[in-house]
Amino acid sequence: MLIDTHAHLNFNAFRDDVEEVIKRCADQKVGVINVGSEYKTSKRAVEMAEKHEGLWAAIGVHPGHLSEREIDDGEGNLIRSAVEKFDRKKYFELAKSKKVVAIGEVGLDYYNGEENKKEQVEAFKEQIKLAVDLDLPIAVHCRNAYKDILEVITEEKKKYGEKMRGVIHSYLGRLSYAQIFNEIGFSVAFNGIITYARDYDKVIKNIDLKYILAETDCPWLTPVPYRGERNEPLYVRYVAEKIAEIKDISNEEAAKVTTENAKKLFKI
Ligand SMILES: [Zn+2]
Repeated sequence: MLIDTHAHLNFNAFRDDVEEVIKRCADQKVGVINVGSEYKTSKRAVEMAEKHEGLWAAIGVHPGHLSEREIDDGEGNLIRSAVEKFDRKKYFELAKSKKVVAIGEVGLDYYNGEENKKEQVEAFKEQIKLAVDLDLPIAVHCRNAYKDILEVITEEKKKYGEKMRGVIHSYLGRLSYAQIFNEIGFSVAFNGIITYARDYDKVIKNIDLKYILAETDCPWLTPVPYRGERNEPLYVRYVAEKIAEIKDISNEEAAKVTTENAKKLFKI
């Protein structure tokens, strides 16, 4: 069994054939955590998870949804993002489903500028608190903001201790930051990027496998050998195989340990 710890089958790119994609996952024993980026997609992730055994959900407001901006809809079209302010009550309600295994994706994204930095940090902290109150891990999104994300997480960690745990998804930071995240118990997750860019080999090689998770972030970031096509959870296999190659261990070992790591963090 493998678990894709960060997928978006709840997004429009899968609108037409999501049931077939889910069936392929079930046939090949690939579990999927569908991650929401706003209320609508969070709710959809929960509904899908309630319906299918091998699916789980993460719910939260992505930093990119705190202000209007252009986003890729997963089919190559740029659309205006829906603007949402984090409403704790609504997410608290959604989290009553037993299939909700994380709060995410939450975090900081300075790719389109830092004007609303204060607001992003505030929404991130509020969602960390929600996760702690619900005894759930956080699935963290970070783009062009590693220094700040490290600061917020280490600061909040001092406040919440063991109750605060999580994963930095699609890890693109440097090795020294990954080591600090691991020291405070946070995992880092890798996706298809590692199959075609060599920039993260050093990080993967030098951190303990017990802190590494595999994901796809589908529909984006399709791994080799399917570059150019839509990504899907089944391809998490190629991510696990690349981790095996970089760490010089067997594919079975990499699959087994990354799956155990996912089960432990998300309690599934
Ligand atoms: Zn994502």
